Amino acid sequence: MTSHPSPTTAPSDEPRSAPVASRVLVLNSGSSSVKYQLLDMRDGSRLAVGLVERIGEETSRLKHTPPAGGHPREQFGPVADHEAALKAVATELAADGLGLDSPELAAIGHRVVHGGMYFTEPTVIDDAVLAEIERLIPVAPLHNPANLTGIRTAMALRPDLPQVAVFDTAFHTTMPESAARYAIDVKTADEHRIRRYGFHGTSHAYVSRATARLLGRAPEDVNVIVLHLGNGASASAVRNGRCVDTSMGLTPLEGLVMGTRSGDMDPAVIFHLMRVGGMSTDEIDTLLNKQSGLIGLCGDNDMREIRRRIDEGDEQARLAFDIYIHRLKKYIGAYYAVLGRVDAIAFTAGVGENAAPVREAAIAGLEEMGLAVDGDLNAVRSDEPRLISPPDARVAVAVVPTDEELEIATQTYALVGKNHA
Ligand code: ADP
Repeated sequence: MTSHPSPTTAPSDEPRSAPVASRVLVLNSGSSSVKYQLLDMRDGSRLAVGLVERIGEETSRLKHTPPAGGHPREQFGPVADHEAALKAVATELAADGLGLDSPELAAIGHRVVHGGMYFTEPTVIDDAVLAEIERLIPVAPLHNPANLTGIRTAMALRPDLPQVAVFDTAFHTTMPESAARYAIDVKTADEHRIRRYGFHGTSHAYVSRATARLLGRAPEDVNVIVLHLGNGASASAVRNGRCVDTSMGLTPLEGLVMGTRSGDMDPAVIFHLMRVGGMSTDEIDTLLNKQSGLIGLCGDNDMREIRRRIDEGDEQARLAFDIYIHRLKKYIGAYYAVLGRVDAIAFTAGVGENAAPVREAAIAGLEEMGLAVDGDLNAVRSDEPRLISPPDARVAVAVVPTDEELEIATQTYALVGKNHA
């Protein structure tokens, strides 16, 4: 591990005397985009939020939303690469007095998609950590290279600042072997590191804990099924604060029906498409990851549009919705059985937080399992965690907005504080 100069961070429960570094910059670097948020860890508030998209194209765009009350600023025009993107972000932040050179900045937290079995916790980044993230590229070819580019660029800009990797897979490393292994030849699986890793872990961790808080109980005391339903979607079974199963696997393709991904299907469909359909590996990869799920079934992947079409009597949209709900119900049942006792089911992410008909349909008919949704509570629109089950329900059903950036910042800040306390 390389040693970083001691920052001016104090653990959050210590009395504070100014100046104290209390800000964390969260970076989520994709292949052609960088999303960022600057948070004040004294209260979790956002000081700035923004993104640079279409990096490497002529039509790049930077959108920066300054601290509360400020008007969003947009820039159009080519941003050549991640370095140029981060420099542009740094300039925007500096214009609001929030520059990367500020002594108030305690650390940068990076979202890293794949941490394999190696990274079970957030980790301060050094050369060895970079090498391990690089070694994982074969199992995360789309994500880890972009994450690495973002990290290296940020490290070049602030080499003295602690930079922390927070892994999407980390929360799932507590899965027992019985849930994590595929039933294939062990030697082949181990040679190619084929196993179920799971993704969206930062969200599952945050939401399972927030659900426990909503119930007024400690995370170690509750069993929760988390349904993260965004464009990508995954379910997890969390026992006493630890993940024991999740629906995504070696890659995010497994599990639920998603916006553009198929989720579970007979793997022999792939051989069939190769042998009979004459399709190449890459074509099938594209088909299953980008042209399947809701968009493959009905041509739309936005649940709002699908609901609108259903209201107009569109049968194709109705079937897509029914297939989506059927798979969701199967996972609720499966994870109920895995956990044995369920205290709460939490809906989160774009669809889970906003689509009342999805929540209603997923829980409908499960009364014998102690599950029910109250129509009035389910119809309430709010950004707050809330219960939507009737007050006397045996199992709580909740809507719990996810906040992956806050979770990354919290984990980053806790680690930096701990390392330098
Ligand atoms: P991701 O982070 O995976 O891109 P999000 O969690 O932002 O996805 O979810 C995006 C999806 O949420 C959209 O594709 C859309 O289907 C759904 N969504 C967003 N708002 C609503 C809404 N008001 N009603 C129904 N669905 C919504």
